Order: sequence, then structure tokens, then C-alpha cells
Amino acid sequence: MKTKVLWIAALLTMGAQAVKAAENSITSPDTKTTVVVNDRDGRPTYEVRRDGIVVLGESPLGLLTNIGDLSNGLTLRNVETSTVSDSYELRTIKQSQVQYDATKAVCHFEKDGRAVLEVEFRISNRDVAYRYRILPRRNAQVCVVTDEVSAFCLPQGTTAFLCPQSKPMGGFARTSPSYETSYAYDEPVGKNGWGEGYTFPCLFKVDKLTSKQVDKLDGKKGTDSSTNLWVLISETGTDGNYVGCRLLNEKDGNYRIGFPQQGEMNGFGTTSVTLALPGTTPWRTITIGQTLANIVETTVAWDLVEPKYKASRDYTYGKGTWSWIIGMDQSCNFDEQKRYIDFAAAMGYRSVLVDALWDVQIGYDRIAELARYGRSKGVGLFLWYNSNGSWNDAPQSPKHKLDRVGVRRHEMKWMQDNGILGIKVDFFGGDKQPMMQLYEDILTDANDFGLQVIFHGCTLPRGWERMYPNYVASEAVLASENLHFGQGACDGEARAAATHTFIRNVVGSMDFGGSALNKRYNADNKSGTIRRTSDVYALATAVLFQSSVQHFALAPNNLTDAPQWAIDFMKQVPTNWDEVRYIDGYPGRYAILARRCGNRWYVAGINAQEEDVKAKLQLPMFAPGSQVTVYSDDAQLAGSRRDVKLKKSQLDIVIPKNGGLLVVGN
Ligand code: CA
Repeated sequence: MKTKVLWIAALLTMGAQAVKAAENSITSPDTKTTVVVNDRDGRPTYEVRRDGIVVLGESPLGLLTNIGDLSNGLTLRNVETSTVSDSYELRTIKQSQVQYDATKAVCHFEKDGRAVLEVEFRISNRDVAYRYRILPRRNAQVCVVTDEVSAFCLPQGTTAFLCPQSKPMGGFARTSPSYETSYAYDEPVGKNGWGEGYTFPCLFKVDKLTSKQVDKLDGKKGTDSSTNLWVLISETGTDGNYVGCRLLNEKDGNYRIGFPQQGEMNGFGTTSVTLALPGTTPWRTITIGQTLANIVETTVAWDLVEPKYKASRDYTYGKGTWSWIIGMDQSCNFDEQKRYIDFAAAMGYRSVLVDALWDVQIGYDRIAELARYGRSKGVGLFLWYNSNGSWNDAPQSPKHKLDRVGVRRHEMKWMQDNGILGIKVDFFGGDKQPMMQLYEDILTDANDFGLQVIFHGCTLPRGWERMYPNYVASEAVLASENLHFGQGACDGEARAAATHTFIRNVVGSMDFGGSALNKRYNADNKSGTIRRTSDVYALATAVLFQSSVQHFALAPNNLTDAPQWAIDFMKQVPTNWDEVRYIDGYPGRYAILARRCGNRWYVAGINAQEEDVKAKLQLPMFAPGSQVTVYSDDAQLAGSRRDVKLKKSQLDIVIPKNGGLLVVGN
């Protein structure tokens, strides 16, 4: 196929390029965001500004491959710009109907007179994204990418909200890394996590300074958020053709794309990528906002990807229950799972997640019996699987069932024959290319058998809701299991929730498994770790945390020991949303969002700070005179529900520490 390129402009400026580097400026549809691409000294770079404010200073572009260094000795030959306008429907993310408008710019780079690399930018009013396309050579139709120089150079004074990458083959049964570490907040840039960089997505607060001011700056830091821009850096579109990447800090605000750690997958295999040519990389995304609204509301993770196959059936979504979070391994027996099916039916829920060890503690035949029993009550089953394999020591079974195609498809056929809804696959082995291929293979095969897929102990999803129609959600977060395992996680529960709302859950569906109404994380509700958060908080996180399938940490005893208004709310809370709006908040301190389902709005808030959140909330989604239902806490975290008629589209609210707020109405 012949590539159509506008060479004329390039030819006219060739003389000038011999003495001067090419500099090309590309702008967003609203012209407020500018990306400047340069090839000074043969090194491709880009710079990002918003309203003249430096978001990313001149930052390197390029890759190192075994068919040549694609970061040096390059000439920017020309830039083709066009506009992209795309609309799509996706029921499994924060917004059901998405309109995406952006400027597309393909930057053609040459080396020694031959076209070798293209960098494609997409600049919307909210996001900047780019990816590489490596071109074939006459004698090279494949290549190995050994590293990238791709960087994000944040200005001085930037602070970071980041989750360190854990070292490989550590933690429980040598299962790390699995995106399960805690965040640092408002930390000055210049650190490299625990020596291994940071997992995506990465949130930064950048001083609002013009390029001239940045040049003069001596490390002065902005003090309040009105003098800052929020910047979220992540990646999307990663599949079995690449590795999952992280951010490595080089110095000051300079972060570079890092490939997986050599020790992942028990040290087996390379950290490099093998790519057929022409070959494209995943997208690197930069979301920019004056407030956290653009961060919360961005759809960039899905705007840039395409479905990789058609759904084999019309997948459905909704709520479920899950015994393991309260009852642990011993609860994975036939009688208790039957009791949870009855509980799910009483709640009007569609599923029960049967966790680890069901193969030995219940057995395949009796799982089939449970599935039949569930069907008679309108409740389907999700079944847990160990992804191993041979990448870590995770002992729980069933294992060696999903890592090889023949056994996997045989297992999935059995599930399909018995009407199983989906699988939860745990304990993956990092982000090397064979592991990313395993994620893709599991999803693809599961779709053939009509199964939905949840991942745990896993990598961050990167656009997967749109790429794989049967993909539901991933853990990739310090999830509810930690509330059972340690009091420290319970004590910091609200702080973590006020973080995930603005970072992890922004770029992908999050399988948190929360909203417990037990006072204690134990089946007797008397021993075990103590929940510090209120019942309204539990309800609010059912709205704040987004996943189209939610297995809540509710227990059958909650039907009688939890407030009726809490049970009523948990029966009707949606899991599919049409729209999200940021209302207020700050990472690690408090979070207030609004989500819409049909014509009904759910405003949800939580507070992790010592002091109350006291505010007059502007709620333009409710017309003056609207009747809304308000769920709130008193100072002792005792919750209540009341109906309120709004005089104006605003409401005075108070959220105490570890408390919650909900405002629901049309
Ligand atoms: Ca986990």
C-alpha cells in the first residue's frame, strides 16, 4: 500500500532544515492546548502547554530497537494534521455515550534519508496522547524494542500523587508486582518510588507558570490549587503486542517510560517487546485540567482504542455478593454459597462470586448443582481461578486451568454448559509481553464461551472495556481484602477511597469489592478488623467506585442488622452509568462526585480529613424546587435518610471524618 504524504511543503522547507531544526506546533480544537514537536540535534522532542502554561517542558521522544536507534539522528520531515471526530457507546465505563473530537497530527521522522518512524499525536480539549509507528525496512519486517526514551518533563515545583511500583517476586507467595501499594501525596518530584518507579496512572499538580517564568524559577512551589493545573499521565491500548509500562523518575520532574522489571515472571524471559512491522505502540496519555473535573471525567483511555472482537452475546451487568471478603477460604463451601445465593436473591442481585478453592471444597459437580440452584433464583455464578502457570507461588486452586489454550477452552466449555456468568482470574505475573498476551488470550477465549472476565492480582487495564467487550474490571488497587487483613487499612479506608476516585478508577473499571455494612470483617460480626467508616460512607462508595459488575462485601446478616434505608439503597444502586461529574474534592482528603443513570442523579461524597467537609454544594443537575433524598451522618457517624425540597439548585452539607453523603433525585 502506498502512503499518501504531503511532501511538497517538506521539500520547500528542506533548505531551511539544514541549518534549523523543524518546529511544529499543533493545537487542540479549542486552540488552548499546544504541542510543539521538534528535532533539535536529531533528537525528537515534544512540549505541551495549556493557555501558555508549561505542562510538559521539552521532553524526549523515541525508541531503542535492534534495527536501529530511533531516538537520535532523526529528522522531522513533515507533519500531517487532520481532525478526528468519533462517537461511541460503551455501557461499562463512566459514560455511556462518548463524543471524541481531537486534532490528529502524524509526525514523519527520517533517518539517513529513509522514513523510519511516525509519532501520532491526538490533542483534544482535555487530553494529549501519542503513540509510535515503527516502519519496516527492506531487510527488517520485525523488530525488538529494547527500551524507550519517551519522557514527561514536568516543570519545577510540581508535586506528585503516585503509587510506587513494587519489586518483583515479593509479597504474598511472591506475586508482586500487582499494582497494590499505597500512595504518596503532594510529594515533591525527584524521587523514584521504592527504586522501581511508579505504576500508572500518575497524578501531578503543576504550577501555573508561563514558559518565561519557568526559565526563571528557582524551585518555588504554588500553594493552593487555584494556582495549579492537574495532570494525569497514563497509557492505553496495551495488548499482547507490547509490555505494560511504568514511570521511572530520572531527575527532578523528568519521568521516563520504563519497561517491566527483569525479575517479573520469576525472572523468566525478556523485558523487551517483539513487534511485527509496521508496528504501533500503546498510547501515552496526558490529561490536563484546571480542576480535577477533566481528570474525573476524561474518557481518553477508551477514546483511542477499538474493539478487538465482537461480543459473542449480549452481556449483562449488575450487582452481586461475595462470601470470601467476610468469611474467607472456609466460607467457600456448598452450604455457605447456597446461603449467599439466597441472600443475592433477597437483594435482587444477579450474581454470587465463588472465590478460591471451590474445586476442592465444593467440587465441579456440586458447582454445577449450585449453578442450577442459582438459576432457579435468578442468580448466576462467577468462579475464581488462579492464573498460574509458573510465574509465582500462589497456592490456591483451581490452577493450571487458564494458562494453556487447550485446557482453558475445555474449562470454559464446561462453564458455558453449566451457565456460569464469568470468571475472576487472580495472581498474574507482571507486565512482560507474554503476560499481556495471556490477558488477551483469556479474554478472547472467554468471549467464545460467553463469559465475562474480572482480573485480580493484576496489571492496570488499559482501554480494555472497549477493546474486549466481555472484560469487566480489574483489581490493580489495594482493594477490600486489605480491610479484612489489617486494621491499618480500615483506619485509612476513607483516605484511600478519596485517592482512587481521582486516580486509579479514572482510567479503568475498578473491582474493589467494598461497601461492607458489617461492623467487623468477620462472619460473626464480633471479631476481626473494625470498620471505621459509616454506613452512609459504604453506600457512597457504591457510587464513587465504578465497575459495571460489583460484588459488594455485604453479608446475609445485614438483611436484619443493617438500617433498612441502607439495604434499600444497596438494592437499587446502579452499576452502569451514563455520565459522571466532578463536584469537589482533593486526592487523599475528600471526594464528591455525581453520577447519572437514566434521568436519576446520585451525588456521593466521603471525607477522610479530621475536620468536617462543610459546603454549600452547587448541584445544577437538580432544578430549583426538586425533591431529593439525602443520606447523611451526624457527628457520631449515625446515618439517616430524609427527603429534602431544594429551594435553589444547592444544598448545605456536612460530612464528618469517615462519614458519607448521598443526594439522589431526578
Ligand atoms: Ca489482591
